[in-house]
Amino acid sequence: MTHVVVIGAGQAGSSCVAKLRNAGFDGQVTLIGSEPVPPYQRPPLSKKYLLGEMELERLFLRPESFYTEHDIALRLSTTVTGIDAAARTVAIGDEVVGYDHLVLATGSEPRRLPVAIGGALDGVFTVRDLADVDAMAPEFAVGRRVLIVGGGYIGLEAAAVAAAKGLNVTLVEMADRILQRVAAPQTSDFFRDLHSRHGVEIVEGVGLDHLTGEGRVSGVVLSDGRNLEVDFVIVGVGIAPAAGLAEMAGVTLDNGIATDAQGRTSDPHIWAAGDCTSFLFQGNRIRLESVPNAIDQAEVVAENIMGAGKDYVAQPWFWSDQYDVKLQIAGLNTGYDNVVARAGEGGAVSFWYYRGADLLAVDAMNAPRDYMVGKRLIEGGKSPDPAAIADPETDMKALMRL
Ligand code: FAD
Repeated sequence: MTHVVVIGAGQAGSSCVAKLRNAGFDGQVTLIGSEPVPPYQRPPLSKKYLLGEMELERLFLRPESFYTEHDIALRLSTTVTGIDAAARTVAIGDEVVGYDHLVLATGSEPRRLPVAIGGALDGVFTVRDLADVDAMAPEFAVGRRVLIVGGGYIGLEAAAVAAAKGLNVTLVEMADRILQRVAAPQTSDFFRDLHSRHGVEIVEGVGLDHLTGEGRVSGVVLSDGRNLEVDFVIVGVGIAPAAGLAEMAGVTLDNGIATDAQGRTSDPHIWAAGDCTSFLFQGNRIRLESVPNAIDQAEVVAENIMGAGKDYVAQPWFWSDQYDVKLQIAGLNTGYDNVVARAGEGGAVSFWYYRGADLLAVDAMNAPRDYMVGKRLIEGGKSPDPAAIADPETDMKALMRL
């Protein structure tokens, strides 16, 4: 019987095995994950779950019974330690498991602060796994002082939760502005204002020099020489694809595990999906760190294991929740040379990224209609006149008929 082994019981791994069964795959399916809980959604970890507004069970992507009912061997608290690509086996310590198809869905790992600058002190947290968030939750008490290192979406979401819970929040961003890597200055300005209004101190263009404390962090020294007293620190300085096993298997790496259009690695029996992969998108090899990518790519891999011969065409979209603002992003803004603002009611606004006359992406803040229209236009390869976007009188529905 054909045996598909999936390493990584996260968003991509769970989507892959579910798709295999839903599409009628009748071979053996094994899903192996290091974490002790069934596959769950990570986005609420820095949002509702951290706020204490979402119960653990609601994080799970599927009830644990789903896996038994669909004859999927779900092995939790189990870490794959090696791959022998020639023998087509994976190692779990001393145990050896054979496969016909192997799917790497190992996700990514948070970058950590170097030990030399205090990264190993108690009270220093990253936000990747449920265990990380459960460990930091007791720190979120009114009046405590938290330093957040990194002004990307994860750092900003953690700042929003901390501010909402009555903590004193300082966020440092080494780059000139928050969200510099992913968004236009207009979007950075929007979120800086939002956080300032909630009492968060955002310090840009300043890095962390080192943390201080005996055993546990108690202070920080910033790169401009400033000293702050803190009760704990959250580090949100990006992630790296978890590609160690793939390297061991000898498959090609290129900013993550390099896959072809169908999700296959350089070894025809090894596939990959989710955060750990890189793939071609409009001629460039990219990585996407998002739920929609993990699901869609994993489902295409499942279909291709069954012989569909289908290409994965990414349709990037993303979201972030901070306070009462829902940010929705459609498309990828890489290479933009113009940003057009469209103001809505009640402070809603959207920013439309163009390269020349081509619409690349939209950031929509509390503007779901702009997001929806922008997404449809981008996916259809259509680019409205920027002047029409900026004009509040423009009927967005009419734009869809372009
Ligand atoms: P993961 O979900 O990380 O799963 C990988 C799994 O593989 C992990 O459980 C890991 O333990 C396991 N694993 C790794 N190596 C091994 C091994 N050797 N043996 C066994 N198991 C192994 N995306 C959005 O689109 N919108 C958001 O708002 C958003 N918010 C986020 C907030 C947070 C706090 C985080 C952490 C992520 C957020 N993301 C968001 C990103 C999104 O969650 C990821 O892109 C998605 O989870 C990727 O899925 P994945 O399956 O590739 O990886």
